[in-house]
Amino acid sequence: MTHSHIMTKEPSPQCQRCGEILTIKHILIECNNYNPERRKTKLPNNMKSCLDDHSGCLKTLQFIKIIKLFKEI
Ligand SMILES: [Zn+2]
Repeated sequence: MTHSHIMTKEPSPQCQRCGEILTIKHILIECNNYNPERRKTKLPNNMKSCLDDHSGCLKTLQFIKIIKLFKEI
């Protein structure tokens, strides 16, 4: 386990479920720990559909609400 981010002034936000650096892409696409919630909201499996497409956008918002990410932002 490396702690290179400790060297930077601003600590990178970390994924609550796996400890990886938290990015939108990580939450929406990459993190396997969010698979159940992704399935529940039928989230598209690529960033473009999640963010460009109208129904994808709604699913993305619903997904973020379910995983309670709003509190973190
Ligand atoms: Zn993760």
